[in-house]
Parts: sequence; C-alpha cells; structure tokens
Amino acid sequence: MESEKKTIYLDHAATTAVDLKVLDAMLPYFRDSYGNASGIYGLGVDGKRAINKSRETIAGMLQCEPDEIIFTSGGTESDNLAVQGAAFAARLHGAGNHIITTAIEHPAVLNTCAYLKEQGFDVTYLPVDEQGLVEPSQVEANLRKDTILVSVMLANNEIGTLEPINEIAGITKKQGILLHTDAVQAFGQIPVNIKELQVDLLSASAHKLYGPKGIGLLYCRNKTSILPLHYGGRQEGGRRAGTENVPLIAGFGTAAELAFDSMEVRSSALMQLRNLFLQRILSEIPGSHSHGDLLKRLPGNINVAFDDVESTALLLMLSMKGICAASGSACSTGAKESSHVLRAIGCTEKEARETIRFSLGKENTIEEIDIVMQVLKECIENLRLIRGA
Ligand SMILES: *Cc1c(COP(=O)(O)O)cnc(C)c1O
Repeated sequence: MESEKKTIYLDHAATTAVDLKVLDAMLPYFRDSYGNASGIYGLGVDGKRAINKSRETIAGMLQCEPDEIIFTSGGTESDNLAVQGAAFAARLHGAGNHIITTAIEHPAVLNTCAYLKEQGFDVTYLPVDEQGLVEPSQVEANLRKDTILVSVMLANNEIGTLEPINEIAGITKKQGILLHTDAVQAFGQIPVNIKELQVDLLSASAHKLYGPKGIGLLYCRNKTSILPLHYGGRQEGGRRAGTENVPLIAGFGTAAELAFDSMEVRSSALMQLRNLFLQRILSEIPGSHSHGDLLKRLPGNINVAFDDVESTALLLMLSMKGICAASGSACSTGAKESSHVLRAIGCTEKEARETIRFSLGKENTIEEIDIVMQVLKECIENLRLIRGA
C-alpha cells in the first residue's frame, strides 16, 4: 500500500524507535564481535568488555554497584525475577508468605502476584486515590509479621502518576521488608537512582528509552536473596542463566547514556509540549477530561476521556490519518475488560471506554500537535454525530 502520509507517533509509553546511535553501538556485536562473552579469546573478550561498560555506565546512573545489576530479557522478566525471586527465596527461608502491591501495577507485576497467590502466597492490593497515588500510610497499615515484599511502581504506564517510593522505602526499611519498584516508565525520563529511592529491587527496560526490545535489567541490592527463574550457566552472578545478549546489552548502555545526558533539557521540553497539547484538548474539545495527577506525572503522558466517544473507534480513525495513540495500555488493547487502572481511580466503565492515552517523545514537534488537534476535533465531532443520529 502506498502512503505519503507522515506517521505521527504518540505512543512512546508502549515502545520507542531505536536511536541511530544505539543501532550503531549494537552493529559490531552482530557482525564481527560475535564471540561468546565467556570465551577467553579476543572475540569473547570484546563482548565481555561491552557488557562491563554498559553495566558500569548504568550503575553510575542508578548510583549502585555494577554487580547489583542483572541483565534480563526486558521489563516483564525483571518484574517476574524480582517478585517471584523474592517470594520463593523468602518461603525457602521461612520468612513469611505475604506480599503487598497496588491495584494499578503493570500486568507483569499483577499477573505474577496472581500466580503467586495460586502458589499459596497471600497478596494485598492497595487502593489508590483519584489521582492514582498510593498513600504511604496504607502500606504501613497493611504490613504484617509475615510480610516479605512490597511492590509499588515508580510511574504508572497509563496515567503517568509518579508514586512516593522514597517515602514508602522509609516504612519498609524500618521493618526490614524488601521493596521492589517497577521503574520501566520512569527510567530515562526522570531522575531514577537508588540513593534517592532506597529500594531493594528495581526493574527497567531498554525499549522505552530508544533502546532495543528484548533487553532489561533488575537492580538487586547486594545480599538481597532472590531465587532465579530458570537454571543453567553462571551468567549474571548465577542469577540469570543463559549466554549474554551482547549487542542488546551494548545498545541498552548507549540508550541509557543518551537518555541521562540530555534528561533535564529533554524532559522540560517534553513537559512544555505536553502541557500545551493537554490545554488545547481541554479548552478546544468540549466534554474532555484529564485523568491522573497533573504535577506528579511523567513528562510526556496525557490520559484523557472524551464524552460519548468510544476509544477504539477514535483510535481507528486516528490511525487512518497516520496518528498512533493508545487506549489505556498496549497490553490491554483488544481485551474485553476496561483498564484496571482507570477503574482503580474511580472511572465508570463508560468513561474508561472513552479514554485514550497520548505519550509524547523527543521527536514530537509543535507542528505535529497542530495537525493532531485538527484531526482529533474532526474525528470526535463525526463520532458524536454518528452516535446522535
Ligand atoms: C512496558 C512496561 C513493562 C514491560 O516491559 P517489557 O520490556 O516490554 O517486557 C513493565 N512495566 C511497565 C510499567 C511498562 O510500561
């Protein structure tokens, strides 16, 4: 199919394009330096060196030790390794059976907790307020003698809300309970470091920050006991068996470097563009409502409902005009159930089905927002006309 229409990509929370500098950093390890990083010959040493460099770069950003970083296949695996790994290790040591998480976690945490429940663990799901914020005192109130793990995300992928992780860490630390945070949306967007957050486990993924898909990391504080998800070689300190994916690890390191180098400038530009876009939506489109906290929020996130406009119909019309956006999260598109996050912040079923997410990225421009506003207004008017007819 021939198309001269330029794509306007507003779904960066789902994934991002690989930055060309990241691609360049990966290519040598696909082509020439293909050796196994455990080999003692030159080709292997090249790979080992690339892995060490990425590990050290990222450790510097997270302000942790390099050997506290475990490379995984992505955010989903990191969440599984953190939550399952900590739970099964605690059971092995007879430490307890109780896990606390929230109602708005990513499915990678929620469905892992559901699995653990089947395995005999007890799970408490904390509610959030209308902004999507977890109240730290709720964590404290739900702690029990047998609580082994608290898992609260740093930034929500649907509504962009930033959770008070450092405050929660103050509570879990006093009781000696492990704290995990899913930082997949936050890492590379806002300052994320262990000194500040004080968590024991933290998940991140490269493809949300212009890196390749299929590579992520788990920060695991030294002396934190987790069981591996599978068994094999001694890679990653015996915590993640399997031949290291050298090109993707090199790409992750470069992507992280690029993200952290320009973070302040990029995030304030992004926030400005986001605020302008959101203000235009709310003032120019009648019957539109924003969800989530306006200040404690990821810089590029907009989550907005349009009265009497079915989100799937709107997204289809936008996509025919080359505009990419999402309803709730990519993971729940096509699902029968409406977003668990929107229901947790008190949206009705109807409003949840009328909600779409725009997530902006570094390449978006003010001209693109102009085009999107015009198309959005037309589509919404037409959909409301059809509905009224
Ligand atoms: C994208 C995402 C994940 C999953 O990461 P993958 O690398 O795609 O497996 C987990 N948590 C959050 C908050 C995400 O946005």
